[in-house]
Amino acid sequence: MDGVVVKTTLQLIAPGILVVFGIAFVCAWLIERKRNYLFWLAAACVLFAFGAMSQILSWPPGAGPNAIVSGALYTAAVIAAVEGILLRSGRPLGPLIDMAILAVFVLLLAYFFYIDRNLIARVYIQNFGYGLLMVIAAWRLTALARGRYVDRALFWVLLLFGLHFFPRTLLTVGFSLPVDRTAFANSVFWQALQLSLAVLGAGLALAILAAAVSDMIDDLRRERDLDPLTGILNRRGFQDRVSAHLHRRGPGDAALALCDIDHFKSINDSLGHDIGDDVLGEVGRLLRGASRRRDIVGRLGGEEFAVFLPDTNEQDAVDYAERLRIAIAQHGFVIPGGARHVTVSFGVGALQPGDDWPSLYKRVDGRLYAAKRGGRNRTIAHGLSSVSDDAPDRHAGHAGNPLAEMG
Ligand code: GH3
Ligand code: MG
Ligand code: MG
Repeated sequence: MDGVVVKTTLQLIAPGILVVFGIAFVCAWLIERKRNYLFWLAAACVLFAFGAMSQILSWPPGAGPNAIVSGALYTAAVIAAVEGILLRSGRPLGPLIDMAILAVFVLLLAYFFYIDRNLIARVYIQNFGYGLLMVIAAWRLTALARGRYVDRALFWVLLLFGLHFFPRTLLTVGFSLPVDRTAFANSVFWQALQLSLAVLGAGLALAILAAAVSDMIDDLRRERDLDPLTGILNRRGFQDRVSAHLHRRGPGDAALALCDIDHFKSINDSLGHDIGDDVLGEVGRLLRGASRRRDIVGRLGGEEFAVFLPDTNEQDAVDYAERLRIAIAQHGFVIPGGARHVTVSFGVGALQPGDDWPSLYKRVDGRLYAAKRGGRNRTIAHGLSSVSDDAPDRHAGHAGNPLAEMG
């Protein structure tokens, strides 16, 4: 086979692989169209492949138009890649800045071809320009360096990709270059350019794909673990996190507070299931609002809630439960026709050596049951000793009218 044909075919492998990555991004985008950034990345792959093909196949013909067209395609590809990565983190540059950057590159490339013909200037503009764009993107995304493994990988590959443009250009081009195009195409610079672009480009594409897949899995996991009604963890999410905490830390200082709404069935019966749902949502909000960041707050089912309190002894957990119990009892739950009161009962217990989730739950649930039997609207810790009962159960004996009028 003709040597030129072989060489051209080999050169087309890189854009071919890029097109495959482009298709992968489109497929990922089709799975979840709300992830627009995948579309930008698909565009980046295709634009870069077109840029490479334009150079390899010398289309459009003529050094000037070819330099401008391939330069514009490469630049658009880098902008699309950078914008896609920034968009994923919700920090895009915006279409105006994108267009402005593209215009500046094209004008500079045209200037250094038609007015002051200077190949070295064009090589530096493109390589340093692309490097700068990527480093700026990485700079805007430094938060990723503290994120998940995939985020860190993406950050470092992006930064490395951006930085590598500077030494590579200096080392391979230096400050002089053959004006002859064929010699340039055969130069160490051009070959190194192709190789490093292929390796780092594939690395970057893989890092973004991995990050996108991770995003999707995380979203599904969040959905699986969250209670849609209250926005806090559901039983599964709560148990998983508590078990992970127990596994990680071993039984140290930690406590569990179980909270059950008093006479909730009658709230449903007298005011309707929808109002019952509103009350559940409001109690969930109150629990979350009263908790620290590291506390684990969940709805275990029905009208039973749980808060796992790391680094908390039993007395502090009781204080926490009492604060919440009183806050909920004093809270005006807005319902049609006025605001009403709702009370809750708490069972509280500290983690004991050798405890796992089932044993801890069983002990604390027993105390919650004792709080119910003791008259409700109270907190029980240490077996059956009633810790506080400063607000009497307004509903005892009034099951048909569970919500006392305010005021
Ligand atoms: P106690 O004071 O002893 O806790 O009495 P209770 O009425 O609160 O407890 P019970 O277990 O008898 O009733 C719980 C009710 O919670 C029964 C069920 O209809 C209701 N429930 C469970 N899940 C939901 C929900 O998602 N929304 C609404 N609105 N009600 C729910
Ligand atoms: Mg109840
Ligand atoms: Mg219950």
